Amino acid sequence: MNNPIFLDYAASTPTDPLVAEVMQQHLCLGGNFANPASRGHVYGWQADEAVETARAELAATLNADPREIVWTSGATESDNLAVKGLISRGLRLGRKHIVTSAIEHKAVLDTCAWMETQGFSVTYLKPNKQGVITPEDVASVIRGDTLVVSLMQVNNELGSITDLGRIAAICRERGVLSHTDAAQSFGKLPLDVQALGVDMLSLSGHKIYGPKGIGALFVRRQEGLVLDPQIHGGGHEMGMRSGTLPTHQIVGLTAAAKLMQQQMCDETQRITMLRDRFVSHLQQIPDVRVNTPLTQSIPHIVNVAFAGVDGETLLLALNHVAISTGSACNSASVEPSHVLTGIGMPRELADASLRFSFGRYTQVTDVDSAGSHIADVLGRLRQ
Ligand SMILES: *Cc1c(COP(=O)(O)O)cnc(C)c1O
Repeated sequence: MNNPIFLDYAASTPTDPLVAEVMQQHLCLGGNFANPASRGHVYGWQADEAVETARAELAATLNADPREIVWTSGATESDNLAVKGLISRGLRLGRKHIVTSAIEHKAVLDTCAWMETQGFSVTYLKPNKQGVITPEDVASVIRGDTLVVSLMQVNNELGSITDLGRIAAICRERGVLSHTDAAQSFGKLPLDVQALGVDMLSLSGHKIYGPKGIGALFVRRQEGLVLDPQIHGGGHEMGMRSGTLPTHQIVGLTAAAKLMQQQMCDETQRITMLRDRFVSHLQQIPDVRVNTPLTQSIPHIVNVAFAGVDGETLLLALNHVAISTGSACNSASVEPSHVLTGIGMPRELADASLRFSFGRYTQVTDVDSAGSHIADVLGRLRQ
């Protein structure tokens, strides 16, 4: 049997061979293997140089200062650090209110839930039907004691884009910090932290054809913004995140980010074409509803409801495509997607929804055969 067609790029991506080759040079004896914090020998200096070069290059892709990049193990850790790292600041300033949304990734939602156990209060904004949080929504819930607004730029189940620039500007005016989980937008949308104006931004390597286990948090250099470390031990990363820096992961993430940036224009066009072609296949099938707001989303993700069938049954029957019902992180539970119910979809329709996501290796033939496979399977299931 042929392997199923991989249409789950929003869950993870294969490492690009060019990235793997760069990583390979930073692992073994003869390569750049040493501890970047070793100050006493040339091996350490070379590893440190590789890390700092990568830091400057990653910062450049965001138009950030290299000193604003903190290496982490991924977007989950970055999200945790961005929010929990503000506890001291919140206590010092008497600001114990957090604003987020009901459709965030669990890395933010679970972190906020934990903050509630620590005496912070959280407002969970409801997005509109498109899965978008408006600046007006944010402005209306900011209070005198609001500490931070944390909203994702691109939703991982819908692909919907939130206008963070205007939101960050409102936050700044009101003296509130802003954080965004950019795991799904980094490398896919032009991202300039100066223009965007956010104070913190999380990103991840394995969503952009880099390795798993590496990410970064952009932390804007500004008076009084110091995050409480969540991992102590040695004071690496300006005291914000200890632990020996994984040189191979860091150069891998950076090489992946540079490739994304080089290819962004062409890939956006190519993937939009694939997505539109895929959607037009699905529109031939009765009772198919596209949940993704196609005019306000990245082309890499399309979420679709197939009325009258159970999503789990459909997922199993669609054995020629590798997809997910929503977020891979939730696939252990049978609860309907919090994102789809969060945009007001009835439970049955949310249950009958699947996420298709496209990427670097997706070809026209893939979306064509996926489309006809879906039509066949649905025809069978609905009989
Ligand atoms: C994948 C993803 C994460 C988790 O990133 P890791 O690097 O796997 O920890 C967080 N947020 C969003 C929006 C994601 O898509």
